[in-house]
Amino acid sequence: MNYKCLIIGGGPAGYTAAIYLARAAMSALLVEGPQPGGQLTTTTMVENFPGFPDGVDGNMLVQNMRQQAINVGANIVTATVRSIDLSQRPFTAVLEDGSTVTADAVIIATGAQAKYLGLDDERKYAGLGVSACATCDGFFYRRKVVAVVGGGDTACEEAHYLSNLASRVYMIVRKNYLRASAAMQQRVAERDNIEVLYNCNTVGLYGEGGVEGAHLVRNLGTADEERFDLPIDGFFLAIGHAPATAFLGGQVQVDEAGYIVTRDHSTATSVDGVFAAGDVANAQYRQAIAAAGDGCRAALDAMTFLNQA
Ligand code: NDP
Repeated sequence: MNYKCLIIGGGPAGYTAAIYLARAAMSALLVEGPQPGGQLTTTTMVENFPGFPDGVDGNMLVQNMRQQAINVGANIVTATVRSIDLSQRPFTAVLEDGSTVTADAVIIATGAQAKYLGLDDERKYAGLGVSACATCDGFFYRRKVVAVVGGGDTACEEAHYLSNLASRVYMIVRKNYLRASAAMQQRVAERDNIEVLYNCNTVGLYGEGGVEGAHLVRNLGTADEERFDLPIDGFFLAIGHAPATAFLGGQVQVDEAGYIVTRDHSTATSVDGVFAAGDVANAQYRQAIAAAGDGCRAALDAMTFLNQA
């Protein structure tokens, strides 16, 4: 079947786009991916999404978005888009089982995943002191001690944000310098309660029922190697994100970090009829509310395109 619009990605951006298209009676299919819900499913309480005065469980929030989309008539399938041909309209997507879907417009809302170090302990303490989003979870560490891993702009921004809440913030940096811009480094330097631990790698976490500290190694692999434990309550990853764009096979313009480039202050991409919404096109904001807003914009942009096509 040919749809007016194919939405790829089951997170706040994708579900919001589906709600708008369904309510406009545009035939649309949302292919939500193998792990519907996206990053919200890995967070606990969300207190910064307006409309929930007492906060809302991240999983419930995204499940509600999905249910809302279904209630207004959206078609949703739990499947993965393996590849897509954007060279001609209608566009043709190939799903994991080999079946194909065609559509006159496409909204890419596949998100980005925070990178982790790959330690077993990160999984063990997921939601129990390990986080990859200071804006989401920092509030739970008021007057506590936290560590941020990474030395880039994100790490500095997260450390700075956390320094307003936590009593002490350590930055665990594997090199002897910060990669972040001078401006971000300056913001970190101005905070008395941020301490940068250079030349340090995390090799494990410890704690009964939650993070109580990190096992660190200074000068790993050298004659000066030194192992020590850092008592902390929260361990924040800020070593970059990976936007999910591999299935596009380079057909849509991305920036040097792999994020889809949008143009003309809209969600339009380098390919006419293809729109991008949420974290896959946005390295800067990475918030559920921003992604939902993007989903709305992408649906409206797609409708305008379809009405003019
Ligand atoms: P970056 O890739 O810039 O930095 C990643 C950091 O994590 C680096 O310090 C890197 O160390 C470290 N790192 C990576 N892998 C590991 C690992 N396995 N163990 C320990 N440390 C590791 O990512 P960001 O998310 O910081 O930034 C992404 C892009 O977004 C950048 O272009 C950045 O400028 C931009 N950005 C801009 C902001 C702003 O202007 N306000 C805010 C946030 C992001 P190493 O240096 O050793 O490689």
